[in-house]
Amino acid sequence: MIPYGKQEIIQQDIDNVIDVLKSDFLTQGPQVPAFEASLTGHTGSNYAVAVNSATSALHIACMALGLGEGDRLWTTPVTFVASANCGLYCGAKVDFVDIDARTYNMCPVKLESKLKQAKANGTLPKVVVPVHLCGQPCDMKAIHDLSIKYGFNIIEDASHAIGGEYNNAPIGNCEYSDITVFSFHPVKIVTTAEGGAALTNNQILAEKMELYRSHGITRDADKMEGESHGGWYYQQIELGYNYRMTELQAALGVSQMTRLNEFVSARHRLAKRYNELLTKLPIVLPFQLDKTYSGLHLYVIRLKLEEISLSHKQVFEALREKGIGVNLHYIPVHTQPYYQKLGFSLGDFPESERYYEEAISLPMFHLMTDEQQDTVVSVLSGILEA
Ligand SMILES: *Cc1c(COP(=O)(O)O)cnc(C)c1O
Repeated sequence: MIPYGKQEIIQQDIDNVIDVLKSDFLTQGPQVPAFEASLTGHTGSNYAVAVNSATSALHIACMALGLGEGDRLWTTPVTFVASANCGLYCGAKVDFVDIDARTYNMCPVKLESKLKQAKANGTLPKVVVPVHLCGQPCDMKAIHDLSIKYGFNIIEDASHAIGGEYNNAPIGNCEYSDITVFSFHPVKIVTTAEGGAALTNNQILAEKMELYRSHGITRDADKMEGESHGGWYYQQIELGYNYRMTELQAALGVSQMTRLNEFVSARHRLAKRYNELLTKLPIVLPFQLDKTYSGLHLYVIRLKLEEISLSHKQVFEALREKGIGVNLHYIPVHTQPYYQKLGFSLGDFPESERYYEEAISLPMFHLMTDEQQDTVVSVLSGILEA
């Protein structure tokens, strides 16, 4: 089976992790700050807080922004469930904004009309989470302008987008958001096995997220109530979690980050090849927004079902049967049973649901060979032209 995504681990990655195993610190040592420095170095953001997953990063980001009961978080239906669940963890209500038909990202026009209505009803969101689906940046300037007009905070879920650019600047610089979140799960662009990070330019948000990732405990005398009792002393000043990243994970991340540009350009080379090889098929190829450079975590095609004799499911299963490890990103979150119980229904976000009926993620990863890609193209052509 040709997988849809796969990590690349080289000897340098392995050596870096082994060095940590032989060192004094398996956790809470120098590797996590080094990894954070590689993230701020790449993006230009002021702060990076590395944690054990992007899910944890989304949670502490929401907490730092003060999201709580009675508040609202909006995101896109076409994302992994974690982009929405972080709102529920904080006791907030979650709602969605339908996608743009071309980019598959949260549609700024639909966002504005939903905001207008919410303003009239007194139900404006406190936090909006745009997701850079497949690595393609959302129209962040437009969303940021709306955040000023309607007074909400922005968390960019950039789990697919490290290494990408918006308006010639790196995703993660937080120019148009309060916080940006990355994921380092092995299918993503850079991996730490499990891992995530929250980036920000705001010192107060960074300090809060650092507290929340480790029990709400501080060793900083300036943040304590009263006097320190001595060298052993710490205080719990907030309710936090254990969301820490280990030194092993961070060491892998440090090593992987040195190859970020290589990873993303390899994906661009493959995407360009797909674009050329697939033009004649009855499918819609990925659209690229002006002045953006995608991180290209995923290569998603959409079937022109009216031109194909098979159903979406039949095409998908025929590909899997022939050894092509296709996938589907994503089942619209509002259609999940858990969200249906919260009151959402099929039909609520029609553009997202249409996307779900047509989308297929083709295999794309750094080590994919031209031969493997040619196999994907010929199998897909054979199925669609049958
Ligand atoms: C992978 C992913 C997450 C969650 O990442 P983890 O690191 O696995 O917690 C969140 N949002 C999106 C869009 C993702 O793709």
